[in-house]
Amino acid sequence: MKKLLLRTLMACSVLGISPVSAQAPAGHPVAIAIHGGAGTINKDNMSAEKEREYRSKLEQAVKAGHAVLAAGGSSLDAVVEAVQVMEQSELFNAGKGAVYTFDGEHELDASIMWGKNRQAGAVAGVKTIKSPIALARAVMVHSDHVMLSGRGAEAYAATLELDTVSNDYFDSKARLEQLHKAKATMKLDKTAQLDPLALDYKFGTVGAVALDKEGNLAAATSTGGMTAKRWGRIGDSPVIGAGTFADNQSCAVSATGHGEYFIRFNVAADICARVAYQNVSAQQAADEVIHNVLKPAGGTGGVIVMDAQGNISQPFNTQGMYRASIDTSGELKVGIYGHSQ
Ligand code: ASP
Repeated sequence: MKKLLLRTLMACSVLGISPVSAQAPAGHPVAIAIHGGAGTINKDNMSAEKEREYRSKLEQAVKAGHAVLAAGGSSLDAVVEAVQVMEQSELFNAGKGAVYTFDGEHELDASIMWGKNRQAGAVAGVKTIKSPIALARAVMVHSDHVMLSGRGAEAYAATLELDTVSNDYFDSKARLEQLHKAKATMKLDKTAQLDPLALDYKFGTVGAVALDKEGNLAAATSTGGMTAKRWGRIGDSPVIGAGTFADNQSCAVSATGHGEYFIRFNVAADICARVAYQNVSAQQAADEVIHNVLKPAGGTGGVIVMDAQGNISQPFNTQGMYRASIDTSGELKVGIYGHSQ
């Protein structure tokens, strides 16, 4: 046994992969994958220091989620833990780092789903909730509803002990610059619509999928939506089936990308339906939907997917997707760009 451990450690150091030592108590092997958004992300527009910051925050988030699983905790707790690490970082468009709306505010969306029984919770357009994923989970666990929005969701949060903040808690210089740039590219007629093709969208939504020792899958997604959104626009992230889905019978999915397309193509649920009904692997199903369904239609983005055995796939049709995973053997991987990681 000791020899095997030593050999694994040696192989890992040769491959530049960090093994994660903690193993879950006896039961199903555990695994977790996270994303921090997809989009125009390449080495040319990223400083070495920024890249280090992203890698280290992704590693911190995936390890935090994995620690929950390794201690025997549920996949629900694990995905919330991982997402909250990213919600608290300005690097990602979720929680603290949420983008600005057209009117200079922040409106946040989040959802969560439990693969064991397909329970789900979601919040949309909340302005004062520090951790939207915590509220989505509370909606799932404590309310009779699946989705709450705006002021109603905030009134519901006030009945629970959840942290609230004023909207300017989410302010940041970098995101404000993105708003100014976005507005500069908008049509100057009275509808002031965003032209998706003219704008380099700053994605950065966060999400996590996990499998726990009981064999239960979970998925969670949290976002500030899209820069300069208006008229109460809601994307896919809080829409169960579009941005988030989990069912132990098939897979767990969290998505990031141009939300309107993910809603129209019901991306997360479609991937899991293909696994359930077409006898294809989660990897095949996810590749097919991201590259052969979404992309030809003009939809950009990616997904993280975990199947009931803990296999992980992370396809995206953009230049990059911030991502990290710890698989059932404890192998940690962090990636940003295309195949080069
Ligand atoms: N999917 C999110 C939305 O459309 C944006 C993103 O993933 O960055 O609101």
